[in-house]
Amino acid sequence: MSLIRIQNYINGEWLDPIDGQYLDDFEPATGQVYATIPNSNEKDLDLAVKAAQQAFPSWSNTPAEQKAKILNKLADLIEQNQDELAEAEARDNGKPITLAKNVDIYRAAANIRFFAQACTQFSSESHAMENTAINYTLRQPLGVVACISPWNLPLYLFTWKIAPALATGNCVIAKPSEVTPMTAYLLSKLCSQAGLPRGVLNILHGTGPSIGAPLTEHPDIKAVSFTGGSNTGTLIKQATAKQHKKLSLELGGKNPTVVFADCDFDRTVKEVARSAFANQGQICLCGSRILIEESIYDRFATALRNEVEQLIIGDPLEETTQFGALVSKPHMDKVLSYIELAKREGGTLLTGGEQLKIKGRCADGYFVQPTIISGLNNQCRANQEEIFGPVCTLQSFTNEKEALQLANDSEYGLACSIWSQDISRCHRLAQQIETGIVWINCWLLRDLRTPFGGMKASGSGREGGLEAMRFFTEPKNVCVQFKH
Ligand code: NDP
Repeated sequence: MSLIRIQNYINGEWLDPIDGQYLDDFEPATGQVYATIPNSNEKDLDLAVKAAQQAFPSWSNTPAEQKAKILNKLADLIEQNQDELAEAEARDNGKPITLAKNVDIYRAAANIRFFAQACTQFSSESHAMENTAINYTLRQPLGVVACISPWNLPLYLFTWKIAPALATGNCVIAKPSEVTPMTAYLLSKLCSQAGLPRGVLNILHGTGPSIGAPLTEHPDIKAVSFTGGSNTGTLIKQATAKQHKKLSLELGGKNPTVVFADCDFDRTVKEVARSAFANQGQICLCGSRILIEESIYDRFATALRNEVEQLIIGDPLEETTQFGALVSKPHMDKVLSYIELAKREGGTLLTGGEQLKIKGRCADGYFVQPTIISGLNNQCRANQEEIFGPVCTLQSFTNEKEALQLANDSEYGLACSIWSQDISRCHRLAQQIETGIVWINCWLLRDLRTPFGGMKASGSGREGGLEAMRFFTEPKNVCVQFKH
């Protein structure tokens, strides 16, 4: 079978990388190369920046209704092509195709539709000074901005960034992860069909060092919206510090799941299993540290293990599969090395712990069993470092104070879920937990209007709703004094 050749999307055209350098794109479920990707560099970037700069005056002055019309058309096209996009996402990432369709592709269209509407509703403030003057705030697009996204929710997170950037009148240079470039490439085809003017969105493929870093450092890039690992976030902060760029950094997590004895037991078991193992545990919001009140610890651990052992693991392209492959061989090796580390640290495997061999087409794929580990204290590396795979740990606590102390004992602060029928306790904890997102008796229930992001090493800035619209605009106060 011939390899698919992915191209860059610059100024409305599909181009090969100027220096002719390509990378392999692997299908994680089979371990086979099935596409090639441009490994772009500064030369490709210069072309894209010029195209975006040329497009900016017209796009930034396009009426909101017109921008919304184009973005809504793009969302329609994503929905019309959802089967093809879901299959591409499942193949490129290893995630189950049903998840890809119902979550990733569904959300990609929803993201674009949400910000299409938002730009028609966006307003700014005015501040009257009694009998003296009126201040009004202009919110103007920044210019050419960078959007860099990771591999775990490829089209979902790619659109979560480009949609508000475009809706607020910016021109964008976007870089998907080199590990999962396919759906961003397919999206570029739909952008043209939707009538997005040339140069408004440019998509460059390649590795972090070859194109990610030059993109963030380019002097004509006004802001960087980045989702990825905390170490990469630090590099971007350092690299852009002297240029004083606007940064939105959505980084890693080590999220606590706090289960109290008075939870709705059966429902909590199901949801906690989902929160730990959805997308093979490769969601920044996954609950990987499960804290359980001592009085129900044994019963809960057994029920959770039983729930997890029922997951249907297999070929991501099968509709019935619930748990697919990890995204790449290096990532699988990293996850397996953390399981070994956890064992050396004294952890006990309750289930899983091994690489899985699937018969047939997926025999060489990157599959790891869903893994639950107990017996580790919170200071262990396995409880402090982000594994970002199908591995969770269980710890017990005796009271609310200890639960809070364990939950907050992390350099990360992205998300937390609390499971209890005592709603006063839930509110109390929500106030004290050091995470940007707190779910009470639910997980990954998302309203796109809410602020999204983390504190501590999980990032700075927030995405979503008005936060995103504000990030991608520069507020300018205009003060007008009037005569009497
Ligand atoms: P990385 O930080 O490795 O990469 C993220 C993106 O940045 C990729 O496109 C990558 O390119 C690019 N990149 C790498 N190095 C640089 C650089 N020096 N300058 C600019 N760009 C660079 O993260 P992963 O792709 O491994 O994603 C997993 C991480 O993302 C986890 O830590 C996870 O928690 C986090 N994440 C956070 C979310 C949040 O909302 N807080 C949501 C989802 C994931 P390439 O892949 O080509 O190397």
